[in-house]
Amino acid sequence: MPALEIDDLRVTYRGSRGDIPAVRGISFSLEPGDTLGLAGESGCGKSTVAAAVLRLLPADTEVTGRILVDGEDILTMSFGKLRAVRWAGASIVFQGAMHSLNPVHRIGRQIAEPIVLHENVTAEAAEKRAVELMSQVGLPAWRARSYPHELSGGQRQRVMIAMALACAPQLIIADEATTALDVMIQAQVLKLLKGLVSERGIALVMISHDLSVLADTCEQLAVMYAGKLVEQGPSKEVFAAAKHPYAAALSAAFPTVGDPAERRNPHGLAGDPPDPSALPTGCPFHPRCPVVMDECSSATVELRHARPDWRAACLRVEDRAATTTTTAMALGEA
Ligand code: ADP
Ligand code: MG
Repeated sequence: MPALEIDDLRVTYRGSRGDIPAVRGISFSLEPGDTLGLAGESGCGKSTVAAAVLRLLPADTEVTGRILVDGEDILTMSFGKLRAVRWAGASIVFQGAMHSLNPVHRIGRQIAEPIVLHENVTAEAAEKRAVELMSQVGLPAWRARSYPHELSGGQRQRVMIAMALACAPQLIIADEATTALDVMIQAQVLKLLKGLVSERGIALVMISHDLSVLADTCEQLAVMYAGKLVEQGPSKEVFAAAKHPYAAALSAAFPTVGDPAERRNPHGLAGDPPDPSALPTGCPFHPRCPVVMDECSSATVELRHARPDWRAACLRVEDRAATTTTTAMALGEA
Protein backbone atom coordinates (compact mmCIF):
# COMPACT_ATOMS: atom_id res chain seq x y z
CA MET A 1 0.00 0.00 0.00
CA PRO A 2 1.38 3.45 -0.84
CA ALA A 3 2.54 5.50 2.16
CA LEU A 4 1.18 8.59 0.40
CA GLU A 5 -1.17 8.82 -2.53
CA ILE A 6 -2.27 12.17 -3.92
CA ASP A 7 -4.88 12.12 -6.63
CA ASP A 8 -5.86 15.27 -8.56
CA LEU A 9 -5.30 17.57 -5.58
CA ARG A 10 -6.62 21.10 -6.08
CA VAL A 11 -6.29 23.81 -3.45
CA THR A 12 -7.90 27.23 -3.77
CA TYR A 13 -7.30 29.89 -1.12
CA ARG A 14 -9.98 32.50 -0.54
CA GLY A 15 -8.20 35.84 -0.96
CA SER A 16 -9.65 39.26 -0.19
CA ARG A 17 -9.45 40.00 -3.92
CA GLY A 18 -10.81 36.66 -5.08
CA ASP A 19 -9.83 33.03 -5.38
CA ILE A 20 -6.21 31.91 -5.49
CA PRO A 21 -5.85 28.53 -7.21
CA ALA A 22 -2.49 27.62 -5.66
CA VAL A 23 -2.54 23.91 -6.56
CA ARG A 24 -4.34 22.94 -9.78
CA GLY A 25 -4.53 19.19 -10.03
CA ILE A 26 -1.47 17.24 -9.01
CA SER A 27 -1.11 13.50 -8.54
CA PHE A 28 1.72 11.32 -7.30
CA SER A 29 2.22 8.41 -5.01
CA LEU A 30 5.02 7.07 -2.82
CA GLU A 31 5.60 3.56 -1.56
CA PRO A 32 7.26 3.04 1.83
CA GLY A 33 10.96 3.86 1.46
CA ASP A 34 10.44 6.05 -1.61
CA THR A 35 12.01 9.51 -1.69
CA LEU A 36 10.53 12.29 -3.79
CA GLY A 37 12.03 15.74 -4.23
CA LEU A 38 9.53 18.49 -4.97
CA ALA A 39 11.14 21.53 -6.61
CA GLY A 40 10.03 24.85 -8.07
CA GLU A 41 10.50 28.56 -7.53
CA SER A 42 8.85 30.31 -4.62
CA GLY A 43 5.08 30.62 -5.12
CA CYS A 44 4.63 27.47 -7.24
CA GLY A 45 2.49 25.75 -4.59
CA LYS A 46 4.96 23.38 -2.90
CA SER A 47 4.16 24.31 0.71
CA THR A 48 0.45 24.26 -0.10
CA VAL A 49 0.77 20.60 -1.09
CA ALA A 50 2.65 19.86 2.16
CA ALA A 51 0.06 21.66 4.28
CA ALA A 52 -2.81 19.90 2.49
CA VAL A 53 -1.37 16.48 3.35
CA LEU A 54 -1.77 17.17 7.06
CA ARG A 55 -4.84 19.41 6.62
CA LEU A 56 -3.05 22.44 7.96
CA LEU A 57 -4.64 24.90 5.52
CA PRO A 58 -6.85 27.85 6.56
CA ALA A 59 -10.42 26.70 7.28
CA ASP A 60 -12.10 28.42 4.32
CA THR A 61 -9.67 26.94 1.77
CA GLU A 62 -11.27 24.79 -0.93
CA VAL A 63 -9.56 21.43 -1.25
CA THR A 64 -10.63 18.76 -3.73
CA GLY A 65 -9.15 15.48 -4.89
CA ARG A 66 -7.89 12.72 -2.67
CA ILE A 67 -5.02 12.37 -0.22
CA LEU A 68 -4.38 8.96 1.30
CA VAL A 69 -1.77 8.48 4.01
CA ASP A 70 -1.22 4.78 4.53
CA GLY A 71 -4.60 4.17 2.91
CA GLU A 72 -6.48 6.59 5.19
CA ASP A 73 -8.38 9.42 3.56
CA ILE A 74 -7.01 12.63 5.07
CA LEU A 75 -9.60 15.01 3.64
CA THR A 76 -12.61 13.21 5.08
CA MET A 77 -11.30 11.77 8.36
CA SER A 78 -12.52 12.95 11.78
CA PHE A 79 -10.42 15.44 13.69
CA GLY A 80 -9.58 12.87 16.35
CA LYS A 81 -8.22 10.50 13.77
CA LEU A 82 -6.39 13.30 12.01
CA ARG A 83 -4.63 14.17 15.24
CA ALA A 84 -3.42 10.59 15.57
CA VAL A 85 -2.15 10.65 11.98
CA ARG A 86 -0.32 13.93 12.58
CA TRP A 87 1.58 12.36 15.44
CA ALA A 88 2.12 8.80 14.46
CA GLY A 89 1.40 8.60 10.73
CA ALA A 90 3.09 11.56 9.15
CA SER A 91 5.46 14.30 10.29
CA ILE A 92 6.33 17.59 8.70
CA VAL A 93 9.62 19.37 9.23
CA PHE A 94 9.16 23.00 8.21
CA GLN A 95 11.67 25.64 7.32
CA GLY A 96 12.41 27.58 10.47
CA ALA A 97 11.09 24.70 12.58
CA MET A 98 14.35 24.85 14.45
CA HIS A 99 13.21 28.13 15.93
CA SER A 100 10.15 26.41 17.30
CA LEU A 101 12.16 24.55 19.94
CA ASN A 102 11.25 25.72 23.41
CA PRO A 103 14.23 27.79 24.65
CA VAL A 104 13.69 26.96 28.35
CA HIS A 105 13.45 23.17 28.04
CA ARG A 106 16.32 20.75 27.66
CA ILE A 107 16.64 18.94 24.31
CA GLY A 108 16.07 15.43 25.71
CA ARG A 109 12.80 16.45 27.30
CA GLN A 110 11.55 18.08 24.10
CA ILE A 111 12.20 14.94 22.07
CA ALA A 112 10.64 12.74 24.78
CA GLU A 113 7.49 14.84 25.17
CA PRO A 114 5.54 13.62 22.10
CA ILE A 115 6.53 10.04 22.91
CA VAL A 116 5.05 10.31 26.41
CA LEU A 117 1.93 12.02 25.07
CA HIS A 118 1.15 9.69 22.21
CA GLU A 119 2.50 6.33 23.19
CA ASN A 120 1.61 4.75 26.44
CA VAL A 121 5.09 4.78 27.99
CA THR A 122 6.69 6.15 31.16
CA ALA A 123 8.71 9.36 31.13
CA GLU A 124 11.80 7.29 31.84
CA ALA A 125 11.24 5.00 28.84
CA ALA A 126 10.55 8.01 26.63
CA GLU A 127 13.78 9.72 27.69
CA LYS A 128 15.68 6.56 26.90
CA ARG A 129 14.08 6.54 23.43
CA ALA A 130 14.98 10.22 23.06
CA VAL A 131 18.65 9.46 23.69
CA GLU A 132 18.53 6.61 21.14
CA LEU A 133 16.96 8.93 18.58
CA MET A 134 19.64 11.52 19.31
CA SER A 135 22.39 9.02 18.69
CA GLN A 136 20.72 8.06 15.39
CA VAL A 137 20.90 11.65 14.23
CA GLY A 138 24.49 11.91 15.40
CA LEU A 139 24.05 13.79 18.67
CA PRO A 140 25.88 12.50 21.77
CA ALA A 141 23.78 11.45 24.77
CA TRP A 142 25.05 14.29 26.97
CA ARG A 143 23.40 16.75 24.58
CA ALA A 144 20.04 15.65 26.01
CA ARG A 145 20.80 18.00 28.92
CA SER A 146 21.57 20.97 26.67
CA TYR A 147 19.27 23.88 25.93
CA PRO A 148 18.52 24.85 22.32
CA HIS A 149 20.75 27.95 22.43
CA GLU A 150 23.74 25.76 23.27
CA LEU A 151 23.41 23.96 19.92
CA SER A 152 24.53 25.02 16.45
CA GLY A 153 21.98 25.42 13.63
CA GLY A 154 22.92 22.01 12.21
CA GLN A 155 22.53 20.36 15.62
CA ARG A 156 19.13 21.98 16.14
CA GLN A 157 18.04 20.70 12.75
CA ARG A 158 19.13 17.22 13.84
CA VAL A 159 16.94 17.63 16.91
CA MET A 160 14.01 18.49 14.63
CA ILE A 161 14.64 15.32 12.63
CA ALA A 162 14.82 13.26 15.83
CA MET A 163 11.47 14.77 16.84
CA ALA A 164 9.98 13.95 13.43
CA LEU A 165 11.15 10.36 13.84
CA ALA A 166 10.03 10.09 17.48
CA CYS A 167 6.67 8.44 16.89
CA ALA A 168 7.89 6.26 14.01
CA PRO A 169 5.90 7.90 11.19
CA GLN A 170 5.31 6.23 7.80
CA LEU A 171 5.76 9.53 6.01
CA ILE A 172 7.98 12.57 6.53
CA ILE A 173 7.57 15.80 4.62
CA ALA A 174 10.55 18.12 4.90
CA ASP A 175 9.62 21.57 3.58
CA GLU A 176 12.76 23.65 2.99
CA ALA A 177 13.88 22.03 6.24
CA THR A 178 17.56 22.75 5.73
CA THR A 179 17.45 25.86 3.56
CA ALA A 180 18.64 28.14 6.37
CA LEU A 181 21.73 26.04 6.98
CA ASP A 182 25.22 26.35 5.58
CA VAL A 183 25.57 24.28 2.37
CA MET A 184 27.94 21.70 3.86
CA ILE A 185 25.81 21.18 6.97
CA GLN A 186 22.73 21.06 4.74
CA ALA A 187 24.24 18.19 2.76
CA GLN A 188 25.15 16.32 5.99
CA VAL A 189 21.69 16.68 7.49
CA LEU A 190 19.98 15.61 4.26
CA LYS A 191 22.21 12.54 3.86
CA LEU A 192 21.37 11.64 7.43
CA LEU A 193 17.65 12.02 6.84
CA LYS A 194 17.88 10.00 3.64
CA GLY A 195 19.74 7.19 5.44
CA LEU A 196 17.22 7.06 8.27
CA VAL A 197 14.18 6.95 6.02
CA SER A 198 15.60 4.18 3.83
CA GLU A 199 16.60 2.15 6.91
CA ARG A 200 13.09 2.38 8.31
CA GLY A 201 11.08 2.25 5.11
CA ILE A 202 9.67 5.73 5.67
CA ALA A 203 8.42 7.61 2.62
CA LEU A 204 10.03 11.04 2.29
CA VAL A 205 8.86 14.11 0.41
CA MET A 206 11.61 16.67 0.41
CA ILE A 207 10.67 20.15 -0.73
CA SER A 208 13.21 22.70 -1.89
CA HIS A 209 13.68 25.42 -4.45
CA ASP A 210 17.19 23.99 -4.88
CA LEU A 211 17.14 21.24 -7.50
CA SER A 212 20.73 20.11 -6.94
CA VAL A 213 20.05 19.34 -3.28
CA LEU A 214 17.03 17.25 -4.23
CA ALA A 215 18.79 15.42 -7.06
CA ASP A 216 21.43 14.46 -4.53
CA THR A 217 19.05 13.15 -1.89
CA CYS A 218 15.92 11.79 -3.61
CA GLU A 219 15.30 8.97 -6.08
CA GLN A 220 12.44 10.80 -7.78
CA LEU A 221 12.23 14.43 -8.75
CA ALA A 222 9.01 16.35 -9.36
CA VAL A 223 9.07 19.93 -10.56
CA MET A 224 6.12 22.25 -9.92
CA TYR A 225 5.17 25.36 -11.84
CA ALA A 226 2.05 27.46 -11.30
CA GLY A 227 0.35 24.85 -9.16
CA LYS A 228 0.98 21.83 -11.39
CA LEU A 229 3.66 19.23 -11.91
CA VAL A 230 5.56 20.02 -15.09
CA GLU A 231 8.00 17.13 -14.86
CA GLN A 232 8.49 13.97 -12.85
CA GLY A 233 11.08 11.24 -13.23
CA PRO A 234 14.26 9.64 -11.87
CA SER A 235 16.05 12.52 -10.19
CA LYS A 236 19.60 12.11 -11.51
CA GLU A 237 18.33 11.87 -15.07
CA VAL A 238 15.86 14.72 -14.74
CA PHE A 239 18.57 16.88 -13.21
CA ALA A 240 21.02 16.05 -16.00
CA ALA A 241 18.60 16.24 -18.96
CA ALA A 242 15.25 17.76 -18.02
CA LYS A 243 12.56 17.50 -20.69
CA HIS A 244 10.57 20.56 -19.63
CA PRO A 245 12.24 23.92 -20.37
CA TYR A 246 11.35 25.15 -16.87
CA ALA A 247 12.92 22.13 -15.18
CA ALA A 248 15.93 22.52 -17.48
CA ALA A 249 16.31 26.18 -16.46
CA LEU A 250 16.10 25.25 -12.79
CA SER A 251 18.76 22.54 -13.22
CA ALA A 252 21.02 24.98 -15.02
CA ALA A 253 20.61 27.47 -12.17
CA PHE A 254 21.87 25.27 -9.38
CA PRO A 255 25.33 23.89 -10.06
CA THR A 256 26.82 27.03 -8.52
CA VAL A 257 26.34 26.21 -4.89
CA GLY A 258 25.96 29.09 -2.48
CA ASP A 259 25.28 32.11 -4.67
CA PRO A 260 21.99 33.51 -3.41
CA ALA A 261 21.66 36.17 -6.13
CA GLU A 262 21.97 33.59 -8.86
CA ARG A 263 19.47 31.38 -7.11
CA ARG A 264 16.71 33.93 -7.24
CA ASN A 265 16.70 34.00 -11.01
CA PRO A 266 17.27 30.73 -12.82
CA HIS A 267 19.68 31.13 -15.73
CA GLY A 268 18.12 32.44 -18.88
CA LEU A 269 14.74 32.92 -17.24
CA ALA A 270 13.46 36.44 -17.00
CA GLY A 271 10.64 37.39 -14.70
CA ASP A 272 8.84 35.52 -11.96
CA PRO A 273 6.36 32.66 -11.74
CA PRO A 274 2.83 33.90 -12.51
CA ASP A 275 0.38 35.13 -9.90
CA PRO A 276 -1.99 32.16 -9.40
CA SER A 277 -5.02 34.45 -9.67
CA ALA A 278 -3.88 35.78 -13.08
CA LEU A 279 -2.46 32.79 -14.93
CA PRO A 280 -1.43 33.09 -18.60
CA THR A 281 -3.53 31.12 -21.09
CA GLY A 282 -2.23 27.85 -22.52
CA CYS A 283 0.94 26.57 -20.94
CA PRO A 284 1.46 28.83 -17.89
CA PHE A 285 5.20 28.84 -18.55
CA HIS A 286 4.93 30.05 -22.15
CA PRO A 287 5.63 33.78 -21.46
CA ARG A 288 9.02 32.86 -19.95
CA CYS A 289 9.84 29.90 -22.14
CA PRO A 290 13.05 30.13 -24.20
CA VAL A 291 11.71 27.62 -26.77
CA VAL A 292 8.09 28.79 -26.95
CA MET A 293 6.01 27.95 -30.04
CA ASP A 294 2.83 29.61 -31.34
CA GLU A 295 0.48 26.93 -30.06
CA CYS A 296 1.87 27.14 -26.49
CA SER A 297 -0.23 30.20 -25.68
CA SER A 298 -3.50 28.36 -26.32
CA ALA A 299 -2.90 24.62 -25.97
CA THR A 300 -3.81 22.73 -22.80
CA VAL A 301 -0.63 20.87 -21.95
CA GLU A 302 -0.91 17.86 -19.66
CA LEU A 303 1.90 15.61 -18.47
CA ARG A 304 2.95 13.19 -21.19
CA HIS A 305 5.27 10.23 -20.99
CA ALA A 306 8.79 10.67 -22.32
CA ARG A 307 9.38 7.20 -20.90
CA PRO A 308 7.17 4.97 -18.77
CA ASP A 309 8.89 6.35 -15.64
CA TRP A 310 9.34 9.93 -16.84
CA ARG A 311 6.69 12.55 -17.65
CA ALA A 312 6.81 16.18 -18.69
CA ALA A 313 4.12 18.73 -19.55
CA CYS A 314 5.53 20.28 -22.71
CA LEU A 315 4.33 20.14 -26.32
CA ARG A 316 7.90 19.48 -27.36
CA VAL A 317 8.02 16.24 -25.42
CA GLU A 318 7.28 13.45 -27.79
CA ASP A 319 4.78 11.10 -26.24
CA ARG A 320 7.07 8.08 -26.48
CA ALA A 321 5.03 5.80 -24.25
CA ALA A 322 1.95 6.44 -26.39
CA THR A 323 3.97 5.91 -29.56
CA THR A 324 5.29 2.62 -28.23
CA THR A 325 1.81 1.48 -27.25
CA THR A 326 0.39 2.43 -30.64
CA THR A 327 3.20 0.59 -32.42
CA ALA A 328 2.71 -2.45 -30.22
CA MET A 329 -1.01 -2.42 -30.93
CA ALA A 330 -0.41 -2.09 -34.66
CA LEU A 331 2.01 -5.01 -34.55
CA GLY A 332 -0.42 -7.05 -32.46
CA GLU A 333 -3.21 -6.48 -34.94
CA ALA A 334 -1.08 -7.37 -37.94
P1 ADP B 1 5.82 27.63 -2.47
O1 ADP B 1 5.90 26.81 -1.22
O2 ADP B 1 6.12 26.86 -3.71
O3 ADP B 1 6.65 28.86 -2.39
P2 ADP B 1 3.12 28.25 -1.62
O4 ADP B 1 2.37 26.96 -1.57
O5 ADP B 1 3.60 28.82 -0.34
O6 ADP B 1 4.31 28.11 -2.68
O7 ADP B 1 2.19 29.36 -2.31
C1 ADP B 1 1.50 29.13 -3.53
C2 ADP B 1 0.63 30.34 -3.82
O8 ADP B 1 -0.43 30.40 -2.85
C3 ADP B 1 1.34 31.68 -3.75
O9 ADP B 1 0.81 32.50 -4.74
C4 ADP B 1 0.98 32.20 -2.38
O10 ADP B 1 0.97 33.60 -2.36
C5 ADP B 1 -0.42 31.65 -2.19
N1 ADP B 1 -0.73 31.41 -0.76
C6 ADP B 1 -0.02 30.62 0.09
N2 ADP B 1 -0.62 30.58 1.31
C7 ADP B 1 -1.73 31.35 1.22
C8 ADP B 1 -2.78 31.72 2.13
N3 ADP B 1 -2.80 31.26 3.38
N4 ADP B 1 -3.73 32.56 1.67
C9 ADP B 1 -3.75 32.99 0.41
N5 ADP B 1 -2.79 32.70 -0.50
C10 ADP B 1 -1.79 31.88 -0.11
MG1 MG C 1 7.19 27.04 0.47
